[in-house]
Amino acid sequence: MKKVFLILAFVSIFVMGCNPRTTQKENQAQDVAQGMELIRATICQSCAMPMDSNDLFGTDADGAANSDYCKYCYANGEFLAPDITMDGMIEVCVPFMVEQGMEEEIARGFLQEALPQLKRWQSNFCSGQTH
Ligand SMILES: [Zn+2]
Repeated sequence: MKKVFLILAFVSIFVMGCNPRTTQKENQAQDVAQGMELIRATICQSCAMPMDSNDLFGTDADGAANSDYCKYCYANGEFLAPDITMDGMIEVCVPFMVEQGMEEEIARGFLQEALPQLKRWQSNFCSGQTH
């Protein structure tokens, strides 16, 4: 129940955050950025899964917990699917979100908004230019 609630909160912030109409929205963008900072600490920067337990953190090469990525994406300092594309990741994640009670279309829409803002995918998307 808690996870679904978290995900809904993410959806609303991501939908606002990944909006190309940024020119006259500096203040709002700053609010969104602050919200994103909070969220960054709690979701996997590869698949957007909420990580509400340290058990879910990935691991660095030295075995230390890595709070940026979940253990399903990142272990021993490497991505478990290094060649996956962002679209591929979306297709992998949708069934898990459906399993948690989300409609497939909503889940896909959420991931299409959320993933471009995550560290792993950010170099190509939402970097300020129009698209
Ligand atoms: Zn992940």
